[in-house]
Amino acid sequence: MRKIRRLIRTINRRYRETRMFARAMHSPWHPVVAHIIPIRRCNLACAYCNEFDGVSKPVPVAEMLRRVDKLADLGTSIITISGGEPLLHPDLDAMIRRIRERGAIATLITNGYLLVPSRIERLNRAGLDYLQISIDNLEPDEVSYKSLKVLDQKLRWLAEFAEFSVSVNSVLGGAIRCPEDAAVIAARARELGFTSTVGILHDHTGRIQPLDETQQRIYEGLLRMGTPLFSFAQYDRFQKNLIRGLPNDWHCRAGGRYLYICEDGLVHRCSQQRGTPGIALADYTADDLRREAGVRKECAPFCTVSCVHQTAMLDAFRERPRETLQRMLDGRREIDPLFEPPALVKALDWMFLRSRTRRFFESAAVRLLRLKPSKPAAGGAPEFASRSARPDIPLERLCGRDGAAFDGPATPQLGPERRTS
Ligand code: SF4
Ligand code: SF4
Repeated sequence: MRKIRRLIRTINRRYRETRMFARAMHSPWHPVVAHIIPIRRCNLACAYCNEFDGVSKPVPVAEMLRRVDKLADLGTSIITISGGEPLLHPDLDAMIRRIRERGAIATLITNGYLLVPSRIERLNRAGLDYLQISIDNLEPDEVSYKSLKVLDQKLRWLAEFAEFSVSVNSVLGGAIRCPEDAAVIAARARELGFTSTVGILHDHTGRIQPLDETQQRIYEGLLRMGTPLFSFAQYDRFQKNLIRGLPNDWHCRAGGRYLYICEDGLVHRCSQQRGTPGIALADYTADDLRREAGVRKECAPFCTVSCVHQTAMLDAFRERPRETLQRMLDGRREIDPLFEPPALVKALDWMFLRSRTRRFFESAAVRLLRLKPSKPAAGGAPEFASRSARPDIPLERLCGRDGAAFDGPATPQLGPERRTS
């Protein structure tokens, strides 16, 4: 029975992910991802972390629900709950339920310590879509207690009871003493049927140090374990430079495409740039989204915030679909020279990017996914771009030069940011 429920939920999630992707192709103005913090307190104290304290009280649930509603009014596609440790919040399920009721994808980042079968069942019932758990080492040490030794039982419970998608993030760099642990953790995640990702750990100031030779070799081994075309190959391009200490040349749209809402209800560009713009979410408008998305950020070249990298990847796909797809394929072939894109990707490439009748396919997809342009909500953003939303920008540019509306079997993994909790 659980297998059937899982299958139904996976199909439903895929449909909503496809819709999220199509919306991002359709409109450059709504937030794709927002992080909300219902509690700053954490039950652990990882040495590298700058996102927790030991004393804060939970934000009242009525206030959190108002924030979720406001994000939904702004057109946010994915709402990720993190902290601190969000499982410490007594009304977490109500927030997840509201996110789903408002049509967004609900994701959770947790250190996993509080997961037990009954808690996992409650997350199922609330409608959680994604859960990310990050494991730093095999044995607890003075840097981190997020260890496979402690968390393996939690992973087994997740494999048995979770009806949502689970992603296990292992980390390299910084204070991690034994880089080989990352490969063991990733292998264990895959053995249990989860997706695995690898993050590069920043220090408490938010910067990362280039990886040494051993760490780079392990990192490349993890990439070869097999990754979806639309998530890792491109995301990896950011990391590849960072692990060598090289800058990335890209445009960060944080504050527009990505929002970080702190426990006080203020909008920040991201967890590493708190204080800017620092406007109350309740007062955040379409103009704020557009202004912040357009601002050039000095911190971009060495930015480690993977969620914002991924939203940039979506925008690159909207603006230059063929070139971006080619770069993704090249990135995948750097990992595996024999890689051939799945037949579905080839078919969608032809339908939406190459065919003479691509306009037909595009409008059919818009109808199928119920993507109708709507008027700007008061104080909110237009749900989807239309010519009238920005008369100074031609429609071809808003929708991609070739009018792309494209999705593959694995949409970009824009659920949980690869934070370290
Ligand atoms: S470049 Fe990175 S660190 Fe700077 S605002 Fe954007 S997401 Fe934050
Ligand atoms: S990394 Fe996560 S688990 Fe560790 S202290 Fe920070 S919020 Fe807590």
